[in-house]
Amino acid sequence: MKVSLKRPCPRCHSDEVFRSHRRGAMEKYVLRLVGMRPYRCVNCDARFYGLSSVTEQPTPPHLKAA
Ligand SMILES: [Zn+2]
Repeated sequence: MKVSLKRPCPRCHSDEVFRSHRRGAMEKYVLRLVGMRPYRCVNCDARFYGLSSVTEQPTPPHLKAA
């Protein structure tokens, strides 16, 4: 099962957001560099950026079952 990576809107805190298309080559390039994606809020129409993926925390070796 995949956890939803939706991030809440920074303006209205709604989680009704969806990934927005990147606008233009410059944004595409810059966002890729910083590892972020544009999102748009359905509720208030705010456009904002969020990390494109949440890095999974590797299980520390001492917590692994032997
Ligand atoms: Zn919003």
